[in-house]
Amino acid sequence: MSTAGTVTVVGSANLDTTLRVARIPGPGETILASGIVRSPGGKGANQAVGAARSGGAEVAFVAALGHDGEADLLLASLTGAGVGTDHVRRLDGVPSGSALITVSDDAENSIVVVPGANAVLLDLTDGELAVVRSAAVVLACLEIPMATVLAAARAARRFVLNAAPSAPLPDELWPHLDVLVVNEHEARDLTGEAQVDDAVAVLSRRVPALVVTLGAAGALVVEDGLRTHVRGNPVTAVDTTGAGDCFCGVLAARLAAGDDLVTATRWGGAAGALAVQRPGAADAMPTTADVATLVE
Ligand code: ATP
Repeated sequence: MSTAGTVTVVGSANLDTTLRVARIPGPGETILASGIVRSPGGKGANQAVGAARSGGAEVAFVAALGHDGEADLLLASLTGAGVGTDHVRRLDGVPSGSALITVSDDAENSIVVVPGANAVLLDLTDGELAVVRSAAVVLACLEIPMATVLAAARAARRFVLNAAPSAPLPDELWPHLDVLVVNEHEARDLTGEAQVDDAVAVLSRRVPALVVTLGAAGALVVEDGLRTHVRGNPVTAVDTTGAGDCFCGVLAARLAAGDDLVTATRWGGAAGALAVQRPGAADAMPTTADVATLVE
């Protein structure tokens, strides 16, 4: 079987429940919400959908869900986007990951995440390791146990880590990072540097290739000591949720297709710019054809 263009995403899946409220309730307070929306989320699931729908890759997703309605909704979203779900575990006695998000009229939010099954995605099976080994590119995030990230990194031929949400990386993981993707906050958190420039200098000495996403300003690529600023596409953003995940998924897809890192970053940036113009995370991700129109 040819593995050109194949991406394996090892990551998290959450069902997001978003409540619209006038203001965030205080301790002991009961308020009424004006709306409720349930939507697929979790960094890993968003990245897998981004790689398949927006990046055009053949994608296998390694993740864990419970046996509940949330899992059914998440699986439907993944398969609808063309993501392979043969390696999504269904676990007994643990709920699927979920996030309860409260968004107020003045755009404040508060989020409670229940990791559920994501926290017990441990001890990758022979089948899971095989789909990691066979992929041209493996993409992981930090919403799953670090031991699993490390196992995937060791088995991968080319390993892309989106070090989000912020967490310290164990020493043994660093030598396995082929591409590290972070936003400015994560770059500072990972290095303890106050200035992004200093953080970039530190990180680019530790990994062969670094991508720092800069929101509307685009992204910075540092590879072989060469810095390239990939400019952002000017758009009007309505909801930036999941833009970074879409970016990472498309970046992995384009690397798997044989693009160089700067070209792959251009594709990821175009996909991110299209995603922020629509509400939602996975639901807002553009098609590969739409992304191509913006890049070419
Ligand atoms: P999030 O955590 O909200 O998913 P992030 O902080 O991980 O996002 P960003 O840097 O916000 O990631 O976005 C990823 C990429 O998407 C950017 O590098 C950029 O190319 C594109 N992008 C994001 N926001 C915008 C925007 N407002 N206008 C144009 N492009 C954007």
